Amino acid sequence: MRKPIVAGNWKMNKTVAESRQLVAELVPGLQAVDSVERVLCPPFTSLMAVAAMLEGTEIRLGAQDMYWEASGAYTGEVSPLMVKELCQYVIIGHSERRTYFGETDETVNRKVKAALAHGLLPIMCVGETLAENETGRTAEVVSRQMRAGLAGVELKDGKSLYIAYEPVWAIGTGRAATADGANKVIAEVIRLALATLFNPQISQEVRVLYGGSVSGKNAADLFTMPDIDGALVGGASLKAEEFIPITRAAA
Ligand code: PEP
Repeated sequence: MRKPIVAGNWKMNKTVAESRQLVAELVPGLQAVDSVERVLCPPFTSLMAVAAMLEGTEIRLGAQDMYWEASGAYTGEVSPLMVKELCQYVIIGHSERRTYFGETDETVNRKVKAALAHGLLPIMCVGETLAENETGRTAEVVSRQMRAGLAGVELKDGKSLYIAYEPVWAIGTGRAATADGANKVIAEVIRLALATLFNPQISQEVRVLYGGSVSGKNAADLFTMPDIDGALVGGASLKAEEFIPITRAAA
């Protein structure tokens, strides 16, 4: 049995004051859903304030990215050591970072390794673009991202790694993948890659999230699928009245 997980990616939204307000609205509802791993990923600037508010709760904190070096002359970057002081999770290789900030399979790989080396739980994002989907290249692209992103990664078991399948065409568009379609990619491409890279047991232990326009309306349908273990939620994670029901649907 894989414990479900719902993570909220706030992206570049919420000042510190706004973050405090949202967390105050989220905590009572999220606290009640303790059969689900609940993770908030605010911007770096809000991590300390949110960490303080989550103390004594089971709600976990994640960063949206990090650099792979532990310290040094890398102006503007945030290191695994810094993230580790406040967070348990880190999102790596989100498609917005790949599209706008030059993230590649190679940088994703370095970051995944750094996260694991520092005891952080990486949520590695993979997913095909609309053009790749429409030309029948989904399996090829997602498989490449899996193999390159996890090259040389060593795992004792499947509990320290999370994969988010996020078709780029579904992110922020209001057009989610169908539950069947997402499950098929996860079962036939992502878990197959995990079995090949590691072993069949690890492939069955790793939690795989679906991301892309998850809402209170489609969450329950997605979560009935056997290979979907939860969701990485963008837009709907910014409103307590949307995020809490998604978390409940995963329970
Ligand atoms: C995301 O940012 O990871 C995401 C899935 O966004 P949205 O839920 O808004 O599509």
